Amino acid sequence: MSYRAPSGIAHSAGDTPSIAVSQHETWMFRAIELARRAQGRTDPNPAVGAVVVRSGRLLGEGFHERAGAPHAEPNAIAQARSRGHVLVGATLYVTLEPCSSWGRTPPCTDLIIHERLGRVVVGATDPNPRHRGRAYALLRGAGIEVIVGVLAEACVALNPVFHARFGATSPAAASPVTVFDDEKLSARSTLGQYDALAQLR
Ligand SMILES: [Zn+2]
Repeated sequence: MSYRAPSGIAHSAGDTPSIAVSQHETWMFRAIELARRAQGRTDPNPAVGAVVVRSGRLLGEGFHERAGAPHAEPNAIAQARSRGHVLVGATLYVTLEPCSSWGRTPPCTDLIIHERLGRVVVGATDPNPRHRGRAYALLRGAGIEVIVGVLAEACVALNPVFHARFGATSPAAASPVTVFDDEKLSARSTLGQYDALAQLR
């Protein structure tokens, strides 16, 4: 199966999406468009796009430009902040499950919790068994609504090599099924790091 973008879909703030396309799909499609800008330039990381929305209005958007650079989520949040928007309770759309462990940058899951977003809508689940579904438990544990699998096939198709590496090439295979060790998760909490970053802004 291949994904084809719905025609006539509107992306600018305040536009009404086609009746055949849900709000979630509309915004996820925008996130996919953003991710595509970096396709082929993020290795070994996946190409990821994100948008922050409130009440049908785009607050900020971003994508992961290259390995070592900020991930899509902090870029989208930073843009929203730079425009003077309050992020508390807003919805984040992201093409791939937010990272939940330290890489070259702090985990985006912590940033989302720190900013007190109200809802996270994810396209594809991170296929890495070490991460798969982990962010969902952390976010839900923080009282944030999590919706998974919006335009999942298209989101998986953004990074075929990344998903194939873990044998998860279909949305079904990318579904979150894992067991969590809550003690380890809380021990690794790094919210303080984001407080420090916030001071620098
Ligand atoms: Zn991240």
